[in-house]
Amino acid sequence: MIAIAHTVKEARKYITEWKKQGLSIGLVPTMGYLHEGHMSLVKRARQENGKVVVSVFVNPMQFSPNEDLDQYPRDFDADTRLCHENGVDLILHPEPPEMYPDGFCSFVDMTGPTAELCGKSRPIHFRGVCTVVNKLFNIVQPDRAYFGQKDAQQLAVIRRMVCDLNMSIEIVGCPIIREEDGLARSSRNKYLNEEERKAALILSRSVFLGKEMAEEGEKDARKICLAMRRLIETEPLARVDYVEAVDFSTIQKVDAVQGETLFAIAVYIGKTRLIDNFIVKAIS
Ligand code: AMP
Repeated sequence: MIAIAHTVKEARKYITEWKKQGLSIGLVPTMGYLHEGHMSLVKRARQENGKVVVSVFVNPMQFSPNEDLDQYPRDFDADTRLCHENGVDLILHPEPPEMYPDGFCSFVDMTGPTAELCGKSRPIHFRGVCTVVNKLFNIVQPDRAYFGQKDAQQLAVIRRMVCDLNMSIEIVGCPIIREEDGLARSSRNKYLNEEERKAALILSRSVFLGKEMAEEGEKDARKICLAMRRLIETEPLARVDYVEAVDFSTIQKVDAVQGETLFAIAVYIGKTRLIDNFIVKAIS
């Protein structure tokens, strides 16, 4: 039977017991409204660990006041069912006061990889992400934690944090899961009406175009970004936030494909901000 913990104390009871039994623990941090993208992380965690913990927590600290914290979709019963079907052992589902009780005033902040891409349009976002992930790591004490390439900058930021702060947790990156027509799966896709859902395909189409150019040998990252941007701009409902090429580990801008280059995009479809990306490994 799947266990559910609403408090840190309850979660610790399970974790302590599993540690005593010598079982390894895999953690999948999420904001809930789970879908196949999340489940791909769970499946990988299931293969590699004795116990799998999924956290479901819409973290207020990573949302600016003008963002979608209140509208963010939630369906904990459906999340529980999906986790149960996929062999999750424990769901950690705290309320905000459990994570941020009165008097809370400690934060994990990062410069460098948080300065570009989503860090520019969402200035407080990664401080919230690093702080909550740090707390989840301290609560669950996982051997491994699983993050999707869907949020590639977040993956790079967490890798940096774990390295900088000497945390002995293996960070496992997992590929982007897409709908049949190409749209990257996301809880925020729920915001799209029928017309916007069709328009949203411009993100994956632009990613596939850029990827094809890179695979055909184009090394000029600016040319690839420009072609992607032009394609997105053909869609009347789309408004580009950014189309950028960066080094996948430092998240600093690059002009040429070198090492592991991340091509990342953020695009508003109506009021909904969606992201997508691909990574090119340069052949040296
Ligand atoms: P979220 O609930 O959106 O915060 O996502 C929780 C985790 O699931 C993050 O590591 C995401 O990168 C990952 N994830 C979300 N959507 C996808 C997807 N379509 N493919 C792969 N991973 C995903």
